[in-house]
Parts: sequence; structure tokens; C-alpha cells
Amino acid sequence: MSNTQSSAAAFNEALVEPAPRVDLPTSLKVDLMRGLLNPLDNEWQMSAVVRELNGTDEEALAAFDVQKGVSYSEYMTHMLKRSVTSIGNVDVLGRAEVIDELIIGDRDLLFLGVLKATYGRFREFQVTCRECGGSNDVTMDLENDFKMEDPKHDLHETMKIKLKNGTVVELLYPNGGDSQAASKKGKTTAEQNTYILSRCVILQGKSDNDKEAWARGLSLADRNKLVKALFSAQPGPRMEEVETQCAHCNAKIVLALDWVSLLFG
Ligand SMILES: [Zn+2]
Repeated sequence: MSNTQSSAAAFNEALVEPAPRVDLPTSLKVDLMRGLLNPLDNEWQMSAVVRELNGTDEEALAAFDVQKGVSYSEYMTHMLKRSVTSIGNVDVLGRAEVIDELIIGDRDLLFLGVLKATYGRFREFQVTCRECGGSNDVTMDLENDFKMEDPKHDLHETMKIKLKNGTVVELLYPNGGDSQAASKKGKTTAEQNTYILSRCVILQGKSDNDKEAWARGLSLADRNKLVKALFSAQPGPRMEEVETQCAHCNAKIVLALDWVSLLFG
């Protein structure tokens, strides 16, 4: 993270000779943490190719964004199905169902890959200081400024969680499709937890309704334990608040960057 006074930066820019245009990478390889299981050969595909976004993508995403009830996860799917070209030997372009099979951490890694393919390693912003109103140029280093949470389990295996009565429950890692279904069907966090648990639990021979009933029938302590396991186990880059200092008055500036502002801000 670096911060320069914008007037000084503009002055320096005016002094240097016009630089030859350097082409940014138009496509980029991204290594995934869990990857995608290709059902045809039953192999995990661990490496994806993403391309940079262009004006057509911006228009398409802006049109999608104004529709009502579009969740973060749906927007992410829409963006990634345009920009991820392949995952291993699986063609992805335009196929939302493939993107929705990825765990959230892999989707965030792909999103960072799209940012890098589009803007290069450094992403610049203008931020106005709340204290003095001065304008600051802030540069994010997309390689180093995001904390990475490493996987704590083998992501190709299920999670096994022991309940109060000693029963062991097997859970799949939640993917994009799970979080979209849960946020669409559940009106409250409690309802969303029921849907996400029912989608991630492995109960052989049980219907969706049976699994939802199972999730509602769990004791509160067990439910909390399982929900915590599902979400605390999520590896991947963390989009957190970033702190910097105003170049004019030294006041602290806290940036709550979300990924949409990283893309179009
Ligand atoms: Zn200031």
C-alpha cells in the first residue's frame, strides 16, 4: 500500500517523457485451492485461465447490477462466467453452473486474477480525506495487500464434525451455488443456515426436505458448531479494511474496499 500527494504525482507525471504503452496481460493463469472436479475423468482441475474485462463486460455487469435482489454471490458468478475461460480441461466461458461449483475462496482467487489481468499488479484509487478534504492517490498491491487464509483441511475430503451425542456429521465445503440458494430461500440468517447445512450435509438416501428437517431438528449448540465449521474453514484471500495515512494532514484513512469498488472504482 502506498500513498502520494496527488498534486505532486500529477507534477511528476508532467515531467516524465511519454512512456511507451505497455500492454497489460490479457489472460492470466490462476492456481486454485480446491479446484473443480471434472465428472468425465474424475480428476480435480486445479488451474484456471482468466481474461481481462472490457467495456462490453462493464455494460453487461452494470445492467445486471441494477436488477433487484442480485446477491453478491450471483454478481460474482455473472462476472466470473464472462472472464474465466477454462479450469484445467473444462471449458467455462458462459457456463454459470461450473462457476457455482467452486468454493468461495477459489472464486475470490479468480476474482483477484481478473483484477490483475485487467489492471496489472497495482490498482490505483483516488480517496478524499474526511478530515481535510485533500485528495490522495492510493495504490493497492494485488499480490501482497490481501491476507491469504490457507486451507486447514484437505479440501478434496469432506469435513467430519462430532456432535454432542458423539455422532459424526460429514459436510461438503459450501460452494457458490450453495450460498446463492441459501440467500435466495432464507429470509433470516437462521433460515439461511438451515439451507446451507441441508445442502452441505451428506445424508445418504435422504431428500432435500429430509435434510432441511434434519438441520432444523439439530440442537442449537450442534447447529452453531456445524455452521461455524462451514464458514471458519473457508480458505482464500480476505478482503478486509485497509488503513493508510492522508498525505496532506496525516489523518488516518480507513478504506473499506469491497470487490466491486476494486473492479470499477
Ligand atoms: Zn487529510
